[in-house]
Amino acid sequence: MVKETGFYDLLGVKPNATTDELKKAYRKLALKYHPDKNPNEGEKFKLISQAYEVLSNEDKRRIYDQGGEQALKEGGGGGGGGFSSPMDIFDMFFGGGGGRRSRERKGKDVIHQMSVTLEELYKGTVRKLALQKHVICSKCKGVGGKKPPEKCPTCRGTGMQVRVQQLGPGMVSQVQSMCGECRGQGERVSLKDRCKTCEGKKVVRERKILEVNVDKGMEDGQKIVFNGEGDQEPDIEPGDIVIVLDEQEHSTFKRIGNDLSMSMELSLVEALCGFQRAITTLDDRVIVVSSIPGEVMKHESLKCVMGEGMPTYKNPFEKGRLVIQFLVKFPEKIAPEAVGLLENILPARPEVIVPDDAEECRLQEMDPSHRRRRRGHMDEEDGHGRQHVQCQTS
Ligand SMILES: [Zn+2]
Ligand SMILES: [Zn+2]
Repeated sequence: MVKETGFYDLLGVKPNATTDELKKAYRKLALKYHPDKNPNEGEKFKLISQAYEVLSNEDKRRIYDQGGEQALKEGGGGGGGGFSSPMDIFDMFFGGGGGRRSRERKGKDVIHQMSVTLEELYKGTVRKLALQKHVICSKCKGVGGKKPPEKCPTCRGTGMQVRVQQLGPGMVSQVQSMCGECRGQGERVSLKDRCKTCEGKKVVRERKILEVNVDKGMEDGQKIVFNGEGDQEPDIEPGDIVIVLDEQEHSTFKRIGNDLSMSMELSLVEALCGFQRAITTLDDRVIVVSSIPGEVMKHESLKCVMGEGMPTYKNPFEKGRLVIQFLVKFPEKIAPEAVGLLENILPARPEVIVPDDAEECRLQEMDPSHRRRRRGHMDEEDGHGRQHVQCQTS
């Protein structure tokens, strides 16, 4: 058991979430609450990043699981309690832009998430995506007006405004902020010369339709990059539009790499006497699987169908396996008069030797919560408690 679930709740995952589940949850939320898309949710964006920063680090996650947020603050394990900036975590996760130097010459990448079904990833598809982007104003060709811009008179070309703030008697501090007149550009086009189309902003918003080719076998989280399709700005190379695929959960199949896995419930009679089942594939074919006569399907046993998994990306004729896990449903009771019949058919029971002085005990229904309490008590004595916690959470 973990001490607190706050960070898990923020990401909307269970405390036993796998690394992949954490990544997926962070990816979804970070894109949703990124200041570019949701400027009013900065605080939420920060909290999501902090939660992910802790849970994605094995050591920090262990400290948090055992001692909660307080333990992290106290720097348990020598890791230090501070958090990285949410933007750094975001850039690291999405690999955006590269170093700071290249970002000055190149505009920012725009990241969009696109939901895709498992069927679409199996068959491949083309999706149209409508989005808004800044393009250089065609009327003034990105100049901003009839005349080229001149030095901003408000900030004298620095792009910054300095305000003097009185802190107390005889104590002042200088506060720098972005110049509102030129929006930090250091230059502006005078009102009378301003381009009517872009209002001197040099760029206009335009609706753009992107055709996104989702190839067979693509994966959750895979990026499709449109080079140079990001926002345009004068004198800067536009960034990229990056589409991140978000695979939706499927009601029947779960994807594990190129394999698909599913579970199949069998009744006891099917498990012992044979079964036949139809499965509808992701491309709407129907395949039939059945047991060999005389074969017994054991509970939780695995079988697979070669070539009925997911197609391989860039090599779609090669497909993974369809793995089926059989779950055998035992009947709750059998009629006492049927016991003898069954016994005649089934393999003979083993011979059991009971000593004369053996004590007879009664079997009772098990209450798992009772057992856990007992085990917790034992852990305190032998110090194995931590290992149990790890097993349950990993
Ligand atoms: Zn213009
Ligand atoms: Zn200015």
